[in-house]
Amino acid sequence: MKQQLLAAFFLFTFASTVPAEDLKTVDAFRDAATKAKSLLTLPNWEQTPEEVDASMKKAIATANAALDQIGLQDLSKVNFKSTIVALDDLGYQASLTANNATIIKETNTNPAMRKAGEDAVKIFQDWAVGVDYREDVYKAVKAFEKTRPKLSGEDAKLLKETLLDYKRAGLDLPPEKRGEVEQLRKDLSKLGTTFDSNIVETQAPVVFTKAELEGVPESFLATPGIKTGDDAYTVKANVTWQNVTVMENAKSEATRRRLYVVRDSLAKEKNVDVLNQMLALRNKIALRLGYKSWADYQTEIKMAKAGAGAEKYINDLVAGTQPKFTAEVEEMRKAKAAETGDPNAKIAIWDFRYFNNQVKKQKYAVDTEALRVYFPFQKTLEGMFAIYQSIFGMKFEKIAVPQKWVDDLQLYAVTDSGTGEPLGLFYLDMFPREGKFNHFAQFEIIGGKLLDDGKYQRPTVALICNFPPPNAEGQSLLTHGDVETLFHEFGHALHTIATRAKYSRFSGTNVPGDFVEAPSQMLQNWTWDKKVLDTFAADYRDATKKIPAETIEKMKEAKLATAATYYRRQFAMASLDLALHAAHPEDQPYDCVAISNPIWEKVFLPIAPETTFVSYFGHLNGYDAGYYGYAWADAIAADMATVFESAKDGYQDKQAGMRLRRDIYEPGDSRDITQSIEKFLGRKQSVQPFLKRIGVTTPDKKTKPTVPPPDAR
Ligand SMILES: [Zn+2]
Repeated sequence: MKQQLLAAFFLFTFASTVPAEDLKTVDAFRDAATKAKSLLTLPNWEQTPEEVDASMKKAIATANAALDQIGLQDLSKVNFKSTIVALDDLGYQASLTANNATIIKETNTNPAMRKAGEDAVKIFQDWAVGVDYREDVYKAVKAFEKTRPKLSGEDAKLLKETLLDYKRAGLDLPPEKRGEVEQLRKDLSKLGTTFDSNIVETQAPVVFTKAELEGVPESFLATPGIKTGDDAYTVKANVTWQNVTVMENAKSEATRRRLYVVRDSLAKEKNVDVLNQMLALRNKIALRLGYKSWADYQTEIKMAKAGAGAEKYINDLVAGTQPKFTAEVEEMRKAKAAETGDPNAKIAIWDFRYFNNQVKKQKYAVDTEALRVYFPFQKTLEGMFAIYQSIFGMKFEKIAVPQKWVDDLQLYAVTDSGTGEPLGLFYLDMFPREGKFNHFAQFEIIGGKLLDDGKYQRPTVALICNFPPPNAEGQSLLTHGDVETLFHEFGHALHTIATRAKYSRFSGTNVPGDFVEAPSQMLQNWTWDKKVLDTFAADYRDATKKIPAETIEKMKEAKLATAATYYRRQFAMASLDLALHAAHPEDQPYDCVAISNPIWEKVFLPIAPETTFVSYFGHLNGYDAGYYGYAWADAIAADMATVFESAKDGYQDKQAGMRLRRDIYEPGDSRDITQSIEKFLGRKQSVQPFLKRIGVTTPDKKTKPTVPPPDAR
């Protein structure tokens, strides 16, 4: 069964201008909901650790009883509702409790409650893994399949994907082979945990003298823990921000190379071997299940559909970015030649951060900190609301929160601005505090689903974020990056809330993993558009002052100046991940370093041969054969943005916004996502808009990279 727990993505808070007693309550929307045959629901939050535990146990007992009922039925009388829909229903019901527990775990101010939430989530996850292995339920599902039902659309897709879940779990195999796959999975899971722990536990302090760190900011050298002796500065290669600060600023190539070699050899002694074993296990599992490779197994349920599809896509992007990448490397090389006085200087992997930084500093100095005055939190939030309400045909109304997990929690009701139909609810928990989830994400609490009685359960979500807390003047001033995050995360909330999918498996952001980020990545463009910014961004001390057009242009140019370098590094990681998981003879041992190191040189820059990047590449456990998805989604996002860019009102175009709502958000995964994208685009997909965005111009028409047609992947 598909894991329904938490589709995470994100949002925030502010001082209310309407006194709480004057706010509407959710009840004010009940009549409209009844008229629209829909339901708006606020979760009933557990109040004590005991309640959290009891709710989860009860939910699982209820779900198990529902599974028993599927398994016990007369196999000659099975139907769609008593098997396939029943599975979607029981998974959905159990996930509601698990979602509550997740929110409690991430937001509760009481540590004992957070612990109870965490434990409940674990109990749920363990239970969910076992659902696919219920032989009795599988028999009922197969009995229904044998009736050769005539289903169409979303129903047919639900049957197909439910059967696929079982196939992927090994239920189609004869018992002894199934047992082997289960054992291999358990071994793999253990090794994965070891791989992760080795990464977390690796420490690598590297000591430098002050002279060796020339160029590194004084503020960094003064950081507690860095200065460890009279002329000794200890940089932890395993701490990303420390590594990046030195790699971006250290003038000495010897310093950069030394730190890089340590960084890219982290966990080498332990994890090279662990990874080789993991790759062998994955390969075996894939082969036993009838796939040619782990990449094929992993991408089967993604847009890519097969390892070869993902590989071709990345290769096309590598080819497409070649001219721009060559030019960027040449610019870095010239800077290095000038700085070192060596006309034959070459750029290696330990140089790119430093010279990217030099190029940006010299050519496009933009003081990003100074931009904060244009983005006071409340104004920015309201500005984003105004734009999204307008383009998506929605209305957001602040309403009273009956049960608050923190004082500044906000709650909003979303309605269709044309019909008044309630669409859903969202909570905003926007500022950091002790023990709270420390990223930015949207969490689904109640997913959309068509209920048994014909009513539609509208979604309830939470945006849980960590924007800068208000300063001494009471102002929370955002960076431009924060504003991008806000537009991105709120996009995920709208994706969930706008849903019309019948089954929870397909509703909201339950779409393929290599697509889910694309609509939100696209919405980040809004924050780079002068017209959009001018609708809300103004100096909080003098609202007549807007962000100067030259500043936005400079920021764009700076971003573009090193875009190919950024993406080629991404493509190298995507390629080596796919290569590690490509077809491999079962009797041949793996050498993960020999497979991956040459790819760095081919796709990115020369490396030091003794390094083992993959031993510290955490994505290889969890995003295995999936790293390509980041670039994939970026390219789709750029493609989708063209619909707005060619519309009359650009990023504020209502027709384009409504198309996004109708063609992408509403169907979710209830129809093939490629179909939805092409409907939205009004044409086939293309990677050209992405290449154009990162500054690649006029590719040769004959070698023009295109997205392969859907049947090819
Ligand atoms: Zn996201």
